[in-house]
Amino acid sequence: MSDATAKKEERRKFQAIRGTRDLLPPETALWNRVEQTANEVFATFGYGEIRLPIFESTELFARAVGGETDIVSKEMYTFPNPMRFAEFYTKLLHSVKTGEGANEMGTLADLIPESEMISLRPEATASVCRAYIEHNMQQLPQPVKLYYMGPMFRSERPQKGRYRQFYQIGAEILGGTDAPAIDAEVIEMLMTFFDKVGLQGATLYINSIGHNGPDCRRAYIGALYNALLKIKDQLGPDSQRRIDTNPLRVLDSKLESEQPIIATLPHIADHLCDECKTHYAEVKRQLQVRGVLYQENWRLVRGLDYYMRTTFEITAPGLGSQNAVCGGGRYDGLVELLGGPPTKGIGFAIGEDRLILSLQESRKGQAQQGRDIYIAWMGEKAYATAIRAAKDLRKAGFSVELPPVEQKFGKALGQADKLGAKYALILGDNEVSEGLWTLKTLSDGTQQKFTESDLLEFLRQQEKVSS
Ligand code: AMP
Repeated sequence: MSDATAKKEERRKFQAIRGTRDLLPPETALWNRVEQTANEVFATFGYGEIRLPIFESTELFARAVGGETDIVSKEMYTFPNPMRFAEFYTKLLHSVKTGEGANEMGTLADLIPESEMISLRPEATASVCRAYIEHNMQQLPQPVKLYYMGPMFRSERPQKGRYRQFYQIGAEILGGTDAPAIDAEVIEMLMTFFDKVGLQGATLYINSIGHNGPDCRRAYIGALYNALLKIKDQLGPDSQRRIDTNPLRVLDSKLESEQPIIATLPHIADHLCDECKTHYAEVKRQLQVRGVLYQENWRLVRGLDYYMRTTFEITAPGLGSQNAVCGGGRYDGLVELLGGPPTKGIGFAIGEDRLILSLQESRKGQAQQGRDIYIAWMGEKAYATAIRAAKDLRKAGFSVELPPVEQKFGKALGQADKLGAKYALILGDNEVSEGLWTLKTLSDGTQQKFTESDLLEFLRQQEKVSS
């Protein structure tokens, strides 16, 4: 290999791992704005932020999400607890060297008990429930309203809007009652957030999947299963497999050819027990009272085992096939399933990556580019003034670029343009000795002179006009 090729090889080495990506400025400004809006809107509904670990015991997710789901069975990043790994590895080496216990010990993977396996979180509801139990939150005034944001990890096939490290903003209400008003208010909060963040064309779909009783969802699954057996031949291999593993999931199919057949299947609404029917009707009425527009979608079943009654999903334009920006629902049995007391629960998770994509597509969410003010300075005295000006302007909340080395005004103004600055503050010897600073508006080239305090006042007024 020639030196040049070797160098090229070296340079090629490091890239973000498939399915992960860097979020860069100016796009990160939009991420911050979205997260800030979530903080503000959720606080007005009485939610507090919870920060959770990024990895947890694999068993937690297996139990909460369901061992049969794609998420747990195929998509989790799972590894042995590194502390114990060393211990098991040493044991294995010992057994290989001495031949002792080799037969019983088998492979390294066999040596590690399930309880020592750790997974990167594929979602956060399980962790929130674990934290609720761990911190005895059932002793707090109920319900407890929590929200979180951060990265999740699922090893799915990457495509537009689908990543292996992606970000969710979610909220959960735990404890208290399962009054339909709770479901409606969670959804109202979500739509308030989407509205505030500037998401256009969002559609809310709702459904009720009843409860896991013989006179309700179980009866429906039976009816669905029988209907599916009759049309099995007309379905693709994935759906055929799901008839036995999780018949509800057949309703999730996006396969074009299956749509007319799926349309003929029985609807869950016709199988709900009286209580679940009343609950669903009241959720819809409460949404109407709150002015929240929705569409019903009987095929909205959600892939996770613990959902019951209300399920909802929000889609947004500009996302292609991955058009769900949020999914949520009620999960009254989950806390108990994880060893806590019987606890009502409902929540949602917004796919932040997709939300950002949709905002960018609609151009509404274009991140503000560039600096507010570029300080073009020349001369030692001017530099000292420039440093002070930068400090004061930043303190007042403006973003300021202060070049670290002196440059001719022409070059500095070119630089200011390139950075997309709104103004250039020109500080030369004249300006400093006169105490009058020159401010150039870069969009139209006009220049005005200001005293230091007038300048701040002017910039503040301009900001008010443009916001
Ligand atoms: P889920 O936890 O599956 O209900 O997902 C909730 C939301 O997270 C979805 O509606 C998506 O917006 C988002 N989401 C789920 N998986 C991914 C992924 N692999 N990449 C990007 N966003 C995702």
